[in-house]
Amino acid sequence: MKVPSLLIDKAKSVANIERMLQKAQDSGCVLRPHFKTHQSHETARWFRELGIRKIAVSSVSMAQYFAADGWKDIMIAFPVNLREMEEINELAGKVRAGILISSKGVTSMLRNKLKNPVDLYLKVDVGTHRTGFDPQEITSIEKELEDAGKNEMLTFRGFIAHAGHTYQTGSKDEVKAIYEQGSQILKQLRNHFSSCFPGIIISWGDTPSCSIIDDFSGIDELRPGNFVYYDLMQWQLGACKLEEIAIAVAAPVVAVHPGRQEAVVYCGAVHLSKEYLVTSSGEKIFGMVVFVDEHKKWSFPPSMLWVDRLSQEHGILRGPVEIIRELKAGQLLGVLPVHSCLAVHALRD
Ligand code: PLP
Repeated sequence: MKVPSLLIDKAKSVANIERMLQKAQDSGCVLRPHFKTHQSHETARWFRELGIRKIAVSSVSMAQYFAADGWKDIMIAFPVNLREMEEINELAGKVRAGILISSKGVTSMLRNKLKNPVDLYLKVDVGTHRTGFDPQEITSIEKELEDAGKNEMLTFRGFIAHAGHTYQTGSKDEVKAIYEQGSQILKQLRNHFSSCFPGIIISWGDTPSCSIIDDFSGIDELRPGNFVYYDLMQWQLGACKLEEIAIAVAAPVVAVHPGRQEAVVYCGAVHLSKEYLVTSSGEKIFGMVVFVDEHKKWSFPPSMLWVDRLSQEHGILRGPVEIIRELKAGQLLGVLPVHSCLAVHALRD
């Protein structure tokens, strides 16, 4: 490996998928994994081999990419972009496609724009305040569903939520509280609307809650994505162990400065993104360094070595002098990323 590139540990990733699938099955839920984290046909096939058939993606182009490899049930779990109707129509002519409405008035704007049937999901804001209907505003939701009923190409399938505020929590109890509250909201909506729309589902998904909570009884579908590889952010949230992180970025050493306890790797912001964590001692870190062997497997140094700062192509490592002084220019290290979705997006072929 000559330049920064992705290292994926298949065994760890498959174990992560199996664990999440088992949890979903034990709770009576369908697992509809979000594929934006890996964006890879190869990784997608590990899911398929375990019997998974329904997926979520975050763009129309991602849906097209997976449709091209035989995926037939794809929810575009991002507010529908009315400027891509041509592509959505084409997709919906080939696969079962789901679209998301997340604010009032959009459903009526789909009138005469759909050429093929699509599944419609309403996104509900369960506290993240990024997108979604306010669950208190039942009349807005009723109006939206009334508009959906007038469009013969739309079939309302249910309510979805992404509790992104789990990423801002400091304890597992906070994540559990978010799930308790958010899942109640979805269950109430399903109760309220199921007489008019029998068979509607409620779909929940974010990696922190799907990893930390064990029992999802009463939820129909789970849509986590990041769990396929995990990353340092999930580790800090308590959603995974360090050993479960299935992704590293290969980082060639290009300079060693033992005098200041630093080394430089070819692996910068364009490879890792500028996402960082703040450690318990208050330090900002941009990645965790691992040793990489000739089989592309990684292991942990005897003490922590962090990516301390980044510029476009440089990653500056900081750590104990005994480790730094043993590093050699030309050696290959790995960096566990803070946010795997962004590292994948930057480095995928
Ligand atoms: N569903 C939706 C609507 C999302 O926006 C996301 C991620 O942003 C996911 C599922 C997957 O969540 P996570 O990245 O926490 O695994």
